[in-house]
Amino acid sequence: MARMFCNQCKYNLRGLTDHVCPECGAEFDPANVETFSKYGPNVLIETYQKVEPAIKLLAFIAFALLASLFAVTVVALVCVGSFL
Ligand SMILES: [Zn+2]
Repeated sequence: MARMFCNQCKYNLRGLTDHVCPECGAEFDPANVETFSKYGPNVLIETYQKVEPAIKLLAFIAFALLASLFAVTVVALVCVGSFL
């Protein structure tokens, strides 16, 4: 049997006897490919959306560390320069 997912909410419609999505109520016709989707929820996009905040936090921390390192280096150079 072909893979069938709701056009509206990507609910897995496979094996349902009623031709109505139990999740969102959208009707579908197993004989008409226009009324359902062959592709389920995009796992890559979902994973990306879950991972993204953590990456943003890591990027912020990395940026903050680099910025403070840069600031310390500049201050140290200025101090050394003023002594010479
Ligand atoms: Zn649905």
